[in-house]
Amino acid sequence: MNLLFLLTLFSLFASAAEFGPSLEGEVVPIEADGAEQGEGSDTGAVGCSDQYLESGVQLPDLPLFFTRGNAESEYGSAEMIDAIVAATRHMRWLMPEASPVTIGDISHERGGFQSGHVSHRGGVDADIGIYSTGAKQNPRGFDTLSSNFDVVANWALISAFLDTGNVDFILLDRAHIARLRGYTTKAGLLTEAEAEEIFPSEPHPWDRTGIVRHAPNHDNHMHVRVLCSDGSHAGR
Ligand SMILES: [Zn+2]
Repeated sequence: MNLLFLLTLFSLFASAAEFGPSLEGEVVPIEADGAEQGEGSDTGAVGCSDQYLESGVQLPDLPLFFTRGNAESEYGSAEMIDAIVAATRHMRWLMPEASPVTIGDISHERGGFQSGHVSHRGGVDADIGIYSTGAKQNPRGFDTLSSNFDVVANWALISAFLDTGNVDFILLDRAHIARLRGYTTKAGLLTEAEAEEIFPSEPHPWDRTGIVRHAPNHDNHMHVRVLCSDGSHAGR
């Protein structure tokens, strides 16, 4: 508890001391790693690929925030790793009793084909666990959720990801999306117009970012796709 208390204090202090969602404190070592490999996330590099990974950053070991999954598949772009650290750190601050977030596959160190996935080749896709009732996550894997989908905790996690400014889109089962949309509008967290932006009922243009949309087989996790360092979509 003491550690959590200190962490909460640190988060409060860090939030007060920074502008926007910058994560200078925790992210320094990650950015240092990226710099050693030649290209940081702020070098003005244009674009990125969803097929291969040039300067993969390994997911750090932060067990208070998240549980690492497959060691061979925990490499992402700087934007991907920053988003995971930022969102899960925010959850630890916002809901201290919530389980650490279970992280599934991201990409191999240099990206490329990964069995069991159509994407996950460029370090810009990650499978992220979702909370069951009581803000619980299974550290050993993803459990299929239905009415035990914890709408409050999952909205907190999704909005923490969206707040990073790095998210291109999030894939999730439509039944969970309906739960989130109902909750956020009924609770007054989003207007109908805002909910329509984030949870569009119609297919949206490809250039729209920060949206949560349906994909089959996403009732036990969500799939987060991030933007490139220059804010563009990852391309081939
Ligand atoms: Zn995925």
